[in-house]
Amino acid sequence: MKIKEIISQYRRDFTAIYECEHCGATKKSCGYDDDYFHRWVIPEMSCEQCGKKGDKNYRPLATKYPASAFLYNSIHSLKRKPAL
Ligand SMILES: [Zn+2]
Repeated sequence: MKIKEIISQYRRDFTAIYECEHCGATKKSCGYDDDYFHRWVIPEMSCEQCGKKGDKNYRPLATKYPASAFLYNSIHSLKRKPAL
């Protein structure tokens, strides 16, 4: 399966329409927007219609947030503590 369209996203949790590369069947399901999920989990999902998994030409999407995004935010909030 691959992502056809992301319908909504909150932080890294999203709901998307997944599409089968083989028969074109679509399915609405949720996911987790990180590199591991895009790269390894989505292509391993099997289609409910034809039972096949993603093909070897599958290209993972980039995550909306880079791995360092939340780390950066926490460092940034530390910096904003009032100085004595
Ligand atoms: Zn299919």
